[in-house]
Amino acid sequence: MKILVLNSGSSSIKFKLLEMPLEKIICSGMVERIGYEDAILRFKKDDINVQETVPIKTHREGLSILANYLTHPQKGVIKNSNDIYAVGHRVVHGGDSFAETTLINGAVKNEINYYSALAPLHNPPNLEGIEIAEKLFPTAKQVAVFDTAFYQTMPIKARKYAIPNTFYTEDNIKVYGFHGTSHKYVSEKAIKYLGKETSKIISIHLGNGCSMTAIVNGTSVDHSLGFAPSNGLIMGSRSGDIDHSVIFYLAESLGYSLNEIKQLLNKKSGMLGLTGSSDLRDIQAKAEEGDKNCQLAIDMNAYRIKKYIGGYAAAMNGLDALIFTAGIGENSSLIRRLACLDMDYLGIQLDLVKNEKQTNELREINTDSSQVKILVIPTNEELEIAKQVLELLS
Ligand code: ADP
Repeated sequence: MKILVLNSGSSSIKFKLLEMPLEKIICSGMVERIGYEDAILRFKKDDINVQETVPIKTHREGLSILANYLTHPQKGVIKNSNDIYAVGHRVVHGGDSFAETTLINGAVKNEINYYSALAPLHNPPNLEGIEIAEKLFPTAKQVAVFDTAFYQTMPIKARKYAIPNTFYTEDNIKVYGFHGTSHKYVSEKAIKYLGKETSKIISIHLGNGCSMTAIVNGTSVDHSLGFAPSNGLIMGSRSGDIDHSVIFYLAESLGYSLNEIKQLLNKKSGMLGLTGSSDLRDIQAKAEEGDKNCQLAIDMNAYRIKKYIGGYAAAMNGLDALIFTAGIGENSSLIRRLACLDMDYLGIQLDLVKNEKQTNELREINTDSSQVKILVIPTNEELEIAKQVLELLS
C-alpha cells in the first residue's frame, strides 16, 4: 500500500511516497522557499530528477504542484489521488495529549492548533499541510506522528524545570523534547543489533538541530532539548545550553529587545555565531587550514556532547551503546572522534580506522575490547513515520 509522508514546515514542504510494508521509496520531492518568486521545486523518481525554480506563493500551491507530479502521465507514479492509502504527517508538537501516533479528526486538529502556542514556527504549517492533504487526497487516511510522543515516558524529575510548581501544572512549562521520530528509529535499530533483552543507549542526533536522548529498554528517560528546541548541544545556529542571566544582561545592560535576543540565540549563535558558517563541512575545511575560531568551535561542540554522554551514563547507571546519527553524526568522523576521546573510564573505545569508513548502513566503530558499542546508524524519519502509520492502520 502507498503511504505518503509529508513534512510541512514554515517555508518548505518535503514528501516521500513509500510502498509499505516493502519500505520501498517510490518517489520523493520538496518545495523550498514557499512565499518567494524563486521557490525551488524538486521531484525525484528512479532516474528522473526534476529541479525547477518557480514562484510558489502558498503551501496549498506548493502541495498541489507536488500532487500533480504524482499523477503526471509520464513522470507520475499513481493514476489518481485515491491510490494513496494514507498520509503520514510529521507534527512537531503534540504536548502531553499525544503519546502515540494518531488518526486525525477534528478534535486532533484542534489539539494541534492548541499547541501552536508552544511551537509557533512548526505546528501552524504542520496543520496547514494536514488540511491541504485532506482536500488533495480525500480518500486517504490522515495520520499524525508527533516528534514529542517519544518523550512522554520520561520521568517527571527529567521533565520538570525548577521553577514554581504552578508553571508545570497550570502553564504546561516542561521538557517536551524534539527529534523523537529519529531517536526512536535509530534506537530500535540499535536494540535489534545489540540483541539483548535490556539495554541502555544514548542516541546522538547531530544535524542542523542537535539533540541527545537517554533510552532504557526502548523508552526515553532523558533528553537534551526542552520546552522548545533550543537547549543542550551546540547546533548550527542555536546556542544550546546558556545561563539565562545572559538574556537579562543582553536586555538590561546591552539594550537588546526580546525579539533580538530570540533571533540572536536561535538564528545567529551556535556554530554560525562561533565561525560565520553553520555548515560543518565548511567549518572542518577552514579548521584544517588553521582557522582558530573553527578549531575551537569544533572542540566546544564535541566537548558539549561528551558532557551529555557522561551525564546520561550516570543517569542510566551504565551504557551499552552510543548511536551517532543525522548529517553530522553519520558523516563527521572528526566530531565522533573528539566526542569519544578519553572516555575509556566509561568503557567507550573508538576504533579510529573503522571510524573513518563511510557507508550508508548501520556500522559498528568501536574497538573489539570496547565495553560500549559505538554505532553509526543512518536516520530515516520518513520511513519511521510510514512504519508507524502502517502499524496504526493494520
Ligand atoms: P537537518 O537537521 O537540516 O535535517 P542534516 O541532518 O542534513 O540537517 O545535517 C546537516 C549537517 O550535516 C550540516 O552541518 C552539514 O554540514 C553536516 N554534514 C553533512 N555531510 C557532512 C560531511 N560529509 N561531513 C561533515 N558534516 C556533514
